Amino acid sequence: MSILYSRAAWRMRCAAAALSVVALALGSTASGQAATQHDEPWPQHGRDAGEQRFSPLARIHRGNVAQLGLAWSFQFSRPRGVEATPIVVDGVMYVTGAWSTVHALDARTGRALWAYDPQVPGEKAAHACCDVVNRGVAVHEGMVYVGTLDGRLVALDARTGRERWSQRTFPIEETRTITGAPRVAHGVVVIGHGGAEYGVRGYVTGYDARTGKRLWRFYTVPGNPADGPDGEISDMPLRDLAAPTWNGRWWQYGGGGTVWDSMAYDSELDLLYIGVGNGSPHNASVRSPGGGDNLFLSSIVALRPRTGAYVWHYQTTPGDAWDYTATQPIMLADLDIDGQRRKVLMQAPKNGFFYVLDRATGKLISAQKYTAVSWASHVDKATGRPQVAPGARYEKAPALVQPSQLGGHNWQPMAYDPRAGLVFIPAMESTAYMVGDGQFRFRPGVWNTGVVDPPMPPDPAMVAQARQAYRGYLLAWDPVAQREAWRVMHPGPWNGGTLATAGGLVFQGHNGGLFNAYDSASGQLLWSAPIRLHALGGPITYTIDGEQYVAVAVGLGTSLHLSGGVLMPPAEHAPERGRVLVFRLGANAPLPAATEPARAVVPPPAGALDAAAVARGAAQFARYCAQCHGGGGVATGVLPDLRSSPYLQSAALFRVPPLQGALRERGMPDFSAHLHSEDVEAIRSYLIAMARATLPAAPGKDEGARQP
Ligand code: CA
Repeated sequence: MSILYSRAAWRMRCAAAALSVVALALGSTASGQAATQHDEPWPQHGRDAGEQRFSPLARIHRGNVAQLGLAWSFQFSRPRGVEATPIVVDGVMYVTGAWSTVHALDARTGRALWAYDPQVPGEKAAHACCDVVNRGVAVHEGMVYVGTLDGRLVALDARTGRERWSQRTFPIEETRTITGAPRVAHGVVVIGHGGAEYGVRGYVTGYDARTGKRLWRFYTVPGNPADGPDGEISDMPLRDLAAPTWNGRWWQYGGGGTVWDSMAYDSELDLLYIGVGNGSPHNASVRSPGGGDNLFLSSIVALRPRTGAYVWHYQTTPGDAWDYTATQPIMLADLDIDGQRRKVLMQAPKNGFFYVLDRATGKLISAQKYTAVSWASHVDKATGRPQVAPGARYEKAPALVQPSQLGGHNWQPMAYDPRAGLVFIPAMESTAYMVGDGQFRFRPGVWNTGVVDPPMPPDPAMVAQARQAYRGYLLAWDPVAQREAWRVMHPGPWNGGTLATAGGLVFQGHNGGLFNAYDSASGQLLWSAPIRLHALGGPITYTIDGEQYVAVAVGLGTSLHLSGGVLMPPAEHAPERGRVLVFRLGANAPLPAATEPARAVVPPPAGALDAAAVARGAAQFARYCAQCHGGGGVATGVLPDLRSSPYLQSAALFRVPPLQGALRERGMPDFSAHLHSEDVEAIRSYLIAMARATLPAAPGKDEGARQP
């Protein structure tokens, strides 16, 4: 559904670009200001194929960043979470909003050129662990590629937004979703998907960028041995390397290993690197009762992009049981290590170790803890394997584990400044209390982890205590020395991606509703803009006619459900649509007013509650509701806070959305196949108990979460 806002505006933009090219060719310096310059784009997801997110632009620098102001903003067409990194090519910004929508904007003015809405069915939201977000497009040779939440890889004409081709990467009914950005490597568009918590077998697929023809598919975990080889590409890695590391009947649970975010490409080595996710279910004793590494879970795998052929792998967390994905951003750089120039790959995955690998061979160069880590003591340099700590395996006895499933670092992009020699990581400290589910039974289509989700006790003191265990900070990390250079503490965990520039700056948004610039050498705060929303995705920078812009997509975060019922409230508790905010020196546009009023708080109904029903409701809520509505019913702003929902007022009213599908198109699935009316009433009892116990500390007024 492409909407062409203004073809005339587009033509003028192209004409202006053509004129500036002519002026450049003639060596014109006619302007009294800066000479007409080549526009500096942000052409790929991580700016370059190695995803360093470092810009050589220095017009905005330490000395003048304080003069940065809002130049323009653009409001997304659909509400809910925003995680995108925009791309800027030829003066046009391509950015994605919720529900896989794509917007093309004039990067100088924010004027809308076209919009594309793939019309994802609302019900598909039920298969998304973490809201209906999208992290961006790829742009290549006049085409814009987007993966849609419901599984399509779509190529759009960059000029008009019209569909050029569309390929289904999985059947819509499967519990997979695409939220990551496609990457183009060697003329091949590559896309994966998420869904490991719902019981799927992960893969990535390569398509010819021009025609959309499917070229190959690489499965990250073995299938049912009885089914034979997958038949598309060499079965060697799965048969000879992966299959011997699994046992039991893992294929019944999918096995996991989804590639839902990170990839990077080295064109010289012609290697595509993919980051592979956690096991399905999380509990390894369910998935593979005899143990085993369970390749290629939690691994970085190097592939040939033209064929999908396996080249090497490195597993960060053998036999993963903690949701320790290796899907965090992969970054390529050349570093001087022990007197040698090394082509390295760097990653700060969820498990809390910062890895430096030789990217030609996959061999470990070094790994050190970049955050609080309790599950392993160290990574052995000779074998590349972690030494798992006694007691970290919770399958038989409950365990406190650091980091939690949230990770020491999640999908939020990190940046590398090669001049400063520092990687800037949106890092976290977190602790999970993990208990294996001895009664685990696989339930197709819903959350399946094999871990008891401990219901949050309706006790504000415990909530506050749990929250304090979660900390978030901007970490400057020296990847050669493998040590911290500096850190800046934030009000809480789950902060934004980073951008580094040659102006000596690091840009990052944090969950207190600010977008900041820091001195990359010291971490000193140099500039701060209130943005009211969360800047989670990667900021970018680019120039048009010599003017440098800094852009970031902002929104209400995601439906963040944290272990132990720990949640971060949004800066403002209103169902506001996200925006793109673009800054330049000397601009002073006001931040647009909120589009929606804050939600009203309806007090919970009176009356005695049955303790057994509250407990049962807590367990049901954790299984069926918490992924979208938040632990303890505390929404993060993307969805209504169920504790104060008007539906809570009567049992008859509360049954309508889950059992009659009344809100299906808004993304609330029909749960009648999973829940009976007694279950729904138990969930209502639980929410009433939560409301009574915790509403005074409602999101938006939470002091505990705002302390450093
Ligand atoms: Ca996961």
